[in-house]
Amino acid sequence: MPNQKPVDANLFDWPASSPRLWGSRCALCGNVSFPVAQRCSRCSHDEQDRFHLSTEGILWSWTVQRFPPASPPFPPSDGNPFEPFTLGYVELPGEVRVISRLFYNAQQTPHIGQNLKLAFEQLYCDADGTEIIGYGFTPHGDTK
Ligand SMILES: [Zn+2]
Repeated sequence: MPNQKPVDANLFDWPASSPRLWGSRCALCGNVSFPVAQRCSRCSHDEQDRFHLSTEGILWSWTVQRFPPASPPFPPSDGNPFEPFTLGYVELPGEVRVISRLFYNAQQTPHIGQNLKLAFEQLYCDADGTEIIGYGFTPHGDTK
């Protein structure tokens, strides 16, 4: 099995039997942040409690990114043409909205209000063959 590592070690645990995203909750006002914050964006308090975010959410909005992401942190083009990808703003009810890739197959179309669940996929391979794993959301259950 090839080596794998997360695209960012602070976003989620990898490898893990049930990987989940890490968020933080302000100890003073309860505001939830993703990624984990050092200081609350609402009240500036610096005591933040790290916790695992929900694995289920609702599609709040979405778009298609038609230009390559910044390099670094993403690798430069290796000569392959850029493939547009779908980005969603996913509401984790009672927690926070997360910007995320949407992992959809050719038969699936994003709909605002759609039920989603957390998923993980290989984004690319390092020069040494290490698989770089990213998080995303995929349709789940009754998608209205
Ligand atoms: Zn706060």
